[in-house]
Amino acid sequence: MAPDPANSAATVPTFADRLRRLAEQANTSGADVILIAPGPDLEYFIGHSIGSHERLTCLVVPAAGPARLLVPTLERPGWTGSPVESLAVEISTWTDGQDPYAALAALLPPSAKVLAVDYHMPAVHALNAKATVPGSELTLAGEAIAELRMRKGAAEVDALAAAGAAIDRVQRRIGEWLRPGRTENDVAADIGAAIVAEGHARPDFVIVGSGPNGASPHHEASDRVINPGDVVVIDIGGPMPSGYFSDCTRTYVVAPAVGAEVPSRVREVYDVVRDAQAAGVAAVRPGVSAESIDEAARSVIEKAGFGEYFITRTGHGIGLEVHEHPYMVAGNSIPLEPGMAFSVEPGIYLPGEFGVRIEDIVVVGDDGPLLMNTAPTELTVVGSAG
Ligand code: ZN
Ligand code: ZN
Repeated sequence: MAPDPANSAATVPTFADRLRRLAEQANTSGADVILIAPGPDLEYFIGHSIGSHERLTCLVVPAAGPARLLVPTLERPGWTGSPVESLAVEISTWTDGQDPYAALAALLPPSAKVLAVDYHMPAVHALNAKATVPGSELTLAGEAIAELRMRKGAAEVDALAAAGAAIDRVQRRIGEWLRPGRTENDVAADIGAAIVAEGHARPDFVIVGSGPNGASPHHEASDRVINPGDVVVIDIGGPMPSGYFSDCTRTYVVAPAVGAEVPSRVREVYDVVRDAQAAGVAAVRPGVSAESIDEAARSVIEKAGFGEYFITRTGHGIGLEVHEHPYMVAGNSIPLEPGMAFSVEPGIYLPGEFGVRIEDIVVVGDDGPLLMNTAPTELTVVGSAG
């Protein structure tokens, strides 16, 4: 099910405003019409989304004129009571046995030649839409849509803050589950349950990267048994009932065997990552480029001699998707603006040894960063017998 509209971080006037601005984006980007499939874009613009699998569901937003929604007849009841009924968006249906693309063509502006599709439009629908309009051209609407989605309104920032607080509560409880002798999968199952218990709609990802597995940034969880002294990357998140995502990483050290200490190399690498992450966050303010956040974090790791082991970008935008624009990466010169929301998550990944990553979600405030996560970043030793 899509998020309950009552919980969504937007109201009918907000959706109407977003649709109006999307039509402006169509104009400025040279598209005659923007076509949007079920998914986060549909949720963003009309507050509801029903995945229709191989059947065509499509929001049609022309550069001029009213938006229309085409849905399969059998799914029409699912739209009853959704915000779209309060918007000036007419709902049309097509029935199994009819040609959905002919039904779509009837909703397009008569002279439409440039059809822009959102990132989530299945290729089968995009190519068939193009085929119904002789001489038409297919383009991507993703960047035009990102122009709107990447600047969060106050209600969206509140939703991200609630998501951050919920995932922080899980991070603060990691010591309950992360102990020697358990497998990564055991720990991940407990964390997944806690993600829901702390207010999420579902867990979206639960990364438990212990020992050498932590050196693979997107390792999820395995049957590896956690050992005393392991460094463990815990990267977790999911959508709240509002639809907005959490995403937070902390790296823990499992208590070493009796008489052993946390190795100085682990402490050194941890401190470098912590300093790099703090430098990336501290650099956040309106007007600086997205790539400057990457540079601020990366330069700390490079100066410490670990540059070749920081093998990812520094961050990604977040909202109704866990990864969306803007990306904190070399080559992205877009200036940050108040309301932009993204992760700052540098790491050092030492193949065959361990990994360290620390990740917070940050929103650009009027004169600096607004932190959506407040779980402590000090090196935390968990799972000691005493
Ligand atoms: Zn992330
Ligand atoms: Zn993450």
